Amino acid sequence: MGLVVQKYGGSSVADAEGIKRVAKRIVDAKKNGHQVVVVVSAMGDTTDELIDLAGQVSPIPAGREFDMLLTAGERISMALLAMAIKNLGHEAQSFTGSQAGVITDSVHNKARIIDVTPGRIRTALDEGNIAIVAGFQGVSQDKKDITTLGRGGSDTTAVALAAALEAEVCEIYTDVDGVFTADPRVVPKARKLDWISSGDMLELASSGSKVLLHRCVEYARRYNIPIHVRSSFSGLRGTWVSNEPQGDQVEHAIISGVAHDVSEAKVTVVGVPDKPGEAAAIFRTIADAEINIDMVVQNVSAATTALTDISFTLPKTDGAKAIDALEKAKSSIGFDSLRYDDQIGKISLVGAGMKTNPGVTASFFEALSDAGVNIELISTSEIRISVVTRADDVNEAVRAVHTAFGLDSDSDEAVVYGGTGR
Ligand code: ASP
Ligand code: MG
Repeated sequence: MGLVVQKYGGSSVADAEGIKRVAKRIVDAKKNGHQVVVVVSAMGDTTDELIDLAGQVSPIPAGREFDMLLTAGERISMALLAMAIKNLGHEAQSFTGSQAGVITDSVHNKARIIDVTPGRIRTALDEGNIAIVAGFQGVSQDKKDITTLGRGGSDTTAVALAAALEAEVCEIYTDVDGVFTADPRVVPKARKLDWISSGDMLELASSGSKVLLHRCVEYARRYNIPIHVRSSFSGLRGTWVSNEPQGDQVEHAIISGVAHDVSEAKVTVVGVPDKPGEAAAIFRTIADAEINIDMVVQNVSAATTALTDISFTLPKTDGAKAIDALEKAKSSIGFDSLRYDDQIGKISLVGAGMKTNPGVTASFFEALSDAGVNIELISTSEIRISVVTRADDVNEAVRAVHTAFGLDSDSDEAVVYGGTGR
């Protein structure tokens, strides 16, 4: 029996009962002969509460202190989990990200893992312990400061440790039974996938599916680590995410799922001179502010003015920063004005099968039109098509597209076991 890495999210360890239930499950894996490394998130909504608290003492908390604060959430859960395991008569030791050898760059709040040196974890395992590691945190290589990997980063910690320890699988325990064809909170008839390719999962993740983070899937794909997403509440087999299906894993036809995202906003730069270098100047300004953009659309310029509009989408959380950066560069770039719209939503259809099946795009637009949903922006990749609509239309649009592509399950409704989805 090999080494498994298990990750438990905040809703699985939301209270003392949850921690005890998870401890039992971990001990079972150990009893089955595995070496077990556990990555744990902060209890319930702890991280959100810490963020709220920081906001009450400072409108823009310094990155270093903010990270120091947030990592406290995972320290609480890792220590409690180790205690609960010991109480069941098994040896366990908890480790902060830094102690576990998670080395990152020094970009606070969204650090990237650059190396993992899990010497202490190996030793703890060799001595017969279950190792519990605090998720979503590390230590910066140059300054030796505590960093966090960004919201939901515990999944990435788990995959990175699985890769460094050459684990046979990284199990991600969450509050649903696996990866569904749509968010079961919005589409009760969503269907659980048996297997999904890392490629499709990457597209779903970057299109707003919250079950796995993009960075985590990217890491797993690069190091060829199979992920098993499953519920800590049910014990059912979940969804395998890997580069190729294995054993009895069943591949999904044409479409893997429908994702939606209401976390983005749209910025429109109005009255941009239609000449070379303008888009470059706008997006250099945005990049220098360390903002990632998503969709970009440039309108045809009006023949009479030779001015055009450029719209792009970005995380709402970066909206103020983007507007600020563009305002400062207004005279050097040369545009008329800025428009900001945070009442948008994005719906994406994902599946490698669309490469070879004509008509997917047409059916997608027909489903939206039948639901009376107006499309504002469109973008595509080889295996994805996304549209921006009014935020109010998103849920209905997702359900309409899900039904139109025959993804509705005819059996039980998808179960959401916990979590506030906050
Ligand atoms: N506790 C952190 C968060 O809520 C990290 C995680 O859950 O993965 O974002
Ligand atoms: Mg969390």
